Amino acid sequence: MSHHPLLDLPPLTADEFAATERRIAALLRTDNDVVITQGEALLPLEGAIRGAARPGSTALNVVTGPYGRGFGDWLRDAGAKVVELAVPSDRAVTADQVAEALERNPGIELVSLVHAEAATGISNPVAGIGPVVRAHGALLMLDAVASVAAEPLLTDAWGVDLCVVGAQKAMGGPAGVSAVAVGERAWRRLADNPAAPRHSYLSLLDWKERWIDTGRRALPHAPARLEMLALAACLDRIEEEGLDAVIARHRGAAARTREGALDLGLTPYVTDARDAAPVATTVRTPQGIHAGELAASALVADPGAPITAGTGPSAADMLRVDHYGPAADPAVVDRALAALGAALKR
Ligand SMILES: *Cc1c(COP(=O)(O)O)cnc(C)c1O
Repeated sequence: MSHHPLLDLPPLTADEFAATERRIAALLRTDNDVVITQGEALLPLEGAIRGAARPGSTALNVVTGPYGRGFGDWLRDAGAKVVELAVPSDRAVTADQVAEALERNPGIELVSLVHAEAATGISNPVAGIGPVVRAHGALLMLDAVASVAAEPLLTDAWGVDLCVVGAQKAMGGPAGVSAVAVGERAWRRLADNPAAPRHSYLSLLDWKERWIDTGRRALPHAPARLEMLALAACLDRIEEEGLDAVIARHRGAAARTREGALDLGLTPYVTDARDAAPVATTVRTPQGIHAGELAASALVADPGAPITAGTGPSAADMLRVDHYGPAADPAVVDRALAALGAALKR
């Protein structure tokens, strides 16, 4: 058998796995347990929701984009009554709106929220929402897949009980592993929920019992070796550049895109720049022009430009420029703007 560098790797040790978990915890500013789930981020998102939503309980699902809509389905499927707080896709939810929803429905035990929405280009103010949820006594499950490394993510300071991240967006890493930081209150909720997944790919409790509570000495299953290597490499790169610099690079790309779009005569979709996400910028297409057509035309001008048409309810008039990971770079932004300019001229 011939040697292959991707195939003939030494096994990943428990110590190495635990060390990568600690590096993720540092990135998330948390002292909570971190589990590196061996699948794309939808795995810990579904695991967290199905674990935390007791049958018969009430959950508040904040819908500011496509992922929130999916969370509602999981919550209902887990037997929870779902109160939906839907927000138009041109703005973020406010802490006051969350507080009002909690006041109207005192029985709410769980709040699911997306931090940054790559699909709509908004970022929700978790710093203000976290304390409101904590004061109500509910758990907060946050999808921070698109915000981690693009903007501050202060898991413990904000009171996030279940914080889910993936490496494929601003971290510039692999999509095949993900992570969730689980706080003490969340572990208790999961343990008390008779319907929480157990002996299942979705089970966070399995990881607690078989990995964390046994001192992280032996991995319960063969880890995704290549993805774990890529995750460690992307953490190396973030630590080398410095998290603050990575965040500043994303902020800079977002500001440059917004300004450039305005210069092209385009209207930013997200009205208030303070609501805009650092991972993606959305713009309104001019009257009478379909977003799909404009995106296709821009991609003819430059097939490599990170431009896509919107999805869901805003598919017709929303165009999106992605600027995360290696694309959070002024040169990439300028390329996208040039392609958009060429498409508009046509
Ligand atoms: C990208 C992303 C995910 C991960 O989902 P994929 O569609 O599989 O990439 C989850 N949540 C949010 C908010 C994301 O932006």
